[in-house]
Parts: sequence; C-alpha cells; structure tokens
Amino acid sequence: MRYEDFYQRSVDEPEAFWAEQAERIHWQTPPRQILDTSRLPFRRWFVGGTTNLCYNAIDRHLEERGGQLALVAISTETNITRELTYRDLYREVNTFAAVLASLGVGKGDRVVIYMPNIAEAVFAMLACARIGAIHSVVFGGFASHNLALRIDDARPALLIAADAGMRGGKVIPYKPLVDAALEEATHKPPHVLIVDRGLDPQMTRVADRDLDYASLRASYEGAEVPVAWLESNEPSYLLYTSGTTGKPKGIQRDVGGYAVAMALSIRTVFDIAPGQVMFSTSDVGWAVGHSYNVYGPLIGGATSLLYEGLPTHPDPGIWWQLCERYGVRTMFSSPTGIRVLKKQDAGWLKKYDLSALKWLFLAGEPLDEPTAHWITEGLGVPVIDNYWQTETGWPAITLMPGLDLKPVKFGSPGLPSPGYRMKVIDEGTGEELPPQQKGVLVFVPPLPPGCLTTVWGDDERYVNSYFSHFNELLYSSLDWAIRDENGYTTILGRTDDVINVAGHRLGTREIEESVSTHPACAEAAVVGVQDELKGQVPVVFATLKQGVSEPSAEVARGMQQRVVSQLGGVAKPARVYVVNALPKTRSGKLLRRSLQALVQHTDPGDLSTLDDPNALEEVRRALERGS
Ligand code: ATP
Ligand code: MG
Repeated sequence: MRYEDFYQRSVDEPEAFWAEQAERIHWQTPPRQILDTSRLPFRRWFVGGTTNLCYNAIDRHLEERGGQLALVAISTETNITRELTYRDLYREVNTFAAVLASLGVGKGDRVVIYMPNIAEAVFAMLACARIGAIHSVVFGGFASHNLALRIDDARPALLIAADAGMRGGKVIPYKPLVDAALEEATHKPPHVLIVDRGLDPQMTRVADRDLDYASLRASYEGAEVPVAWLESNEPSYLLYTSGTTGKPKGIQRDVGGYAVAMALSIRTVFDIAPGQVMFSTSDVGWAVGHSYNVYGPLIGGATSLLYEGLPTHPDPGIWWQLCERYGVRTMFSSPTGIRVLKKQDAGWLKKYDLSALKWLFLAGEPLDEPTAHWITEGLGVPVIDNYWQTETGWPAITLMPGLDLKPVKFGSPGLPSPGYRMKVIDEGTGEELPPQQKGVLVFVPPLPPGCLTTVWGDDERYVNSYFSHFNELLYSSLDWAIRDENGYTTILGRTDDVINVAGHRLGTREIEESVSTHPACAEAAVVGVQDELKGQVPVVFATLKQGVSEPSAEVARGMQQRVVSQLGGVAKPARVYVVNALPKTRSGKLLRRSLQALVQHTDPGDLSTLDDPNALEEVRRALERGS
C-alpha cells in the first residue's frame, strides 16, 4: 500500500483506520468505541475493549510458534547467551507471575524493576503485564538517588533488582544502591526481590525484606497464572523520561492502544514479520527497550535479541557478528552508539556476512549526515533515522519500509507516522509556518494509540508539560524543526538549546552537523553563550576520531572554517574546545545545558541523569586551558 494513502486515511478517518489496525491484536472483549475525545487533551482509544499485553506477546503465539526463539539474551560481560523459545518464555513468565502473586502483587500495583539487560528483566515486565500490575523499569545505570525519586513517585508494592550489573568487565553492584535508595525514599515497599546472578559475593541481605528469586522460582516452577483482562485504557506501565531538560516525567502508557501501536509499527515501520529477527541494542530501561526489545517484537511473533555489553567488547565487530549469527533482519540502535564505532576502524563493519540485514534504524538524537553516510556506506544497508520520544512510545517521524519505503533523505527522519498530525509553527504567533522555515514541532491532538495517556498521578502536569505552550490546544515536547516541500521534517534540536546570534536563530543541530563534516571529528556539541554584542555566540566542544595526529588548534580552526563556509559568518563558533569526552545523559543524549552552564558559570540544573561526571571535569579543564 502507498504510504501517502495509508497515512492520509489514518488522519482523515482515524476511527475507521484504527478499528482496522486493532485487528492486529487479540481482544478478549472487542472495543465498544474506537476513540473518545470528550476530554481533550486526554483521549481514550478502544474504549471498553479488554486485552492483555502478555497474552498478545506470548500466549497467542504458542500454538503456531511455541518452538521458535522468542528471546535471545546475550551478555558479552558474563559470556552467557540464553536462548528462549516462546514456550520457554511462557514458562518463565508464568513462574515469575506466580511469584509476584505470592507476594501479594496484583492488578494496579506498581512494581519497580531495577535490573541490567538480562532475560529476567523481560520476564519480570511480562509477568507484571500478565497480572495487570504496572511495571516501572528504572535503568540499571542510575544511581540510588534517581532510583529513590522514582520509587517515591511510583510508590511500588514491590521492588525487583539484580545483585549486580557489569560494564566493560567490571562488576557494578546494584544491591548497595537499592539499599541506599530505600534509605532515602519515603515510600518503602515491603519486599525487594533479588535476582542473584552470583556476581557480587559481598552482597548483604536485609532479613524479611529481601527475598531470593531463585528459591521462590523453584517453589513456583511450572505454575500457570491466568491472564488479567484489562480495559484498553488502564495503565500498563510507567517509564520516566531521560531528564535532558529537567526533572523526569512519569510517562503512563495504556494497554490496548499500546498493543495496537506495537503490532502496527513492528510490521510496517520495522519490517519485521512473524519468525524474523530484530536486534535492538537498547537497554530495557529506555522507551526503545520497552517497545522494540520486548513488546513490539514479541507481539509481532518475532525473535528479539537483548544485549548486555559494550559495542566495542570483545571487539568493535560484536554487533555485526551477532547479526550474522542470528540472521538479524532489522537492527535498531542510536546515533551515539554508532559514533562510538565511528572512532574505530571501519573495517569492522565489513567482517561479517550481513546478507540477512535489511535495515538499520537509529533514534534518540539527531543523526548527523557524516555519521549517517559513514555507517550506510560501511554496512551497505539503508539507515533509517526515526524521531520519537519516551512520550510517544513509537516513532512519530520515520520511513516505513515494511509498508512502502520512501526515499531516504539524509539529515531527516522522514515523514509522519500513521495517526500523527504535525505542524511546524512559529513560537511567538503560533501560526503554521511554510516549508523551509524553522519553528516548533507540534502534534495536533488527539495523540494516536501508543502515546502517553497522562503523567503518572499528575494529570495537571500532563496538560502543563505538553499542551500549554500555545494558545491552541497542541502537543509539543519543544523540539525545533524544519520541513521541506515534500513533508520531510528535520529536527534541529530542542527549543531550549536554540542559539540566537544577532537575531538569527540557529538550531544546535545545524552547527554540530557542520562541525562533524570535519574529517577528524567524532562528535560535536554546540551551545549558545551570552555575548554583549550579538546576544549569543556558538561555542563548540568536539571529540576526535582515534589516531588523529593534527594538532588540536589546527583542527579547531578547520572546524570554524567549515561552519563559516557552510552556514555563513553569523554561525561562526566563537571558540572550539577539543575534549576527550562529552557530557551525556545515561541514555546517551548530549547534556548541552551542562556545557552551557560551565561556560557561563550559571546553574546547570539537575545533573542526576549525567552518565560520566569525568566528562564534565574534562570540559572544565579544557575551559581553563582555553583550548
Ligand atoms: P526530558 O523530556 O526528560 O527532558 P528527553 O527529551 O531527552 O528528556 P527522551 O524521551 O528520551 O527524553 O528523548 C526524546 C527527545 O530526543 C526528543 O524530544 C528529541 O529532542 C530527541 N530525539 C529523539 N529522536 C530523535 C531523532 N531521530 N532526531 C533528532 N532528535 C531526536
Ligand atoms: Mg523530552
């Protein structure tokens, strides 16, 4: 089917369109009403229908594909690979669900899951879904304070944690962080269920509170737990945003709309049919992990690869080696991940047989053109940039190779997904802008199925955070964008980060993109810094590829020249600092506000989601050195 027709129908006749899409999943009771918009900006999809995410992800496939691989959990940290068929997964998830039920966890209870990228994290999520408990996965790399904040917000009936994670061969004990988080948090769940991987022999237990999963598993092995049929709009899970702009928001997802969005997107966006293999390098703690390591591929009857480890260990070819071994058709990663590889020899991209690999999807941050070209040419596989947010749960702007692939336009994630009505508007007047003019990206409500239904426990914050920026009722997460005549949208960065040089507004993306065309550049971050004359001037921080011998001052000059020749003198960086690392959030996003604060000596705001504090130290030293 033509993309244009598919998309047009989704926005012109949303009820008819989504009623058809709803047939992709199992409904225990069919919906009474497809869409209820009586209380915008809230909306309800598939009202009165009952279904269950776990049933759609596992039970429904047992007859036809019980013996097919459902989940392959690979760890290059422990060197353990676990291959589970749909039947195996059914067994593990039922056992886990029985354990949860034995601890008194039931429908509507929240369960916080704090685990690394291991199979048990997936079992725990699906077990919650099975019994109607609301999971909230907290990325295992977060420190105790972040965990405590999320515990206090979600108020879980149970906390599930692993003894430890591993990164780059080093054991990272989780349990002390759990203990510290529960010290700090006001809300204290009665139990902590520990999946002991045997990585931390020093681990201590709090009597009565801490329970060992392995022994409970032994008691309930083989148990079968009935599915809780939930009304489509009941909450399925909570997931906190990355916190790039400030305090994370507890994104609440529904059941039916999300299941339909997963079934639709895995097939038409990611081009994965039942029996095919998808490899997403995300952590289950992120939105991509929820949607395309767990729910999307499993609802779609596919095989999902889950990976614990670095992209460069044991060597920078590991991802492609896994693609060859499992016959991966669609791979999903992030620009950050690819930029890590870009520092290495491109020969690693050519070492394995990638004949099964059809697509590489990348999301999470702007995909700069030099990186897009490097990886596209290196792999010989089309690269599809896709734009979304924790809030949307699935790509909002993408190309849809599973339906009808439109031409890839480097620098742009492409066209709106079904159900998303978008505009680029002027920030001041709220008027829709013609093509080629920069403005704020907004979605016209109602949001399609799969998107957040509210902010957990805080409807007001939902309205204020997303729908109160303009006079009209429009959704925006405040990304700055530009559209071309064919509807291809390019994201230029966040409106907070826009640099205003003498009245010219520049997206951070534009300058970063230009700096990245310098052959020595691995990654660049640009921030606007106050300037008496011009209002603001751009300042660049850049990391270099391995083996660059050119002196930094030379490279910096070259980068400045590129910006001037590509974007004009107005965009000329006032300074270029060459550094070894850039500050990023735990999810791999550049934390530009921290750079800006360092340069301007202002308050950086909440830095709790910062990945590596050394990166900031490094920047501080570069500022002191002045180069
Ligand atoms: P917070 O909302 O807490 O500040 P966050 O916005 O970083 O954190 P996420 O939901 O993880 O949290 O990230 C979504 C944002 O990531 C988008 O709003 C956009 O700024 C950026 N983004 C995602 N994909 C792309 C892409 N393909 N191109 C450009 N930017 C992207
Ligand atoms: Mg956001």
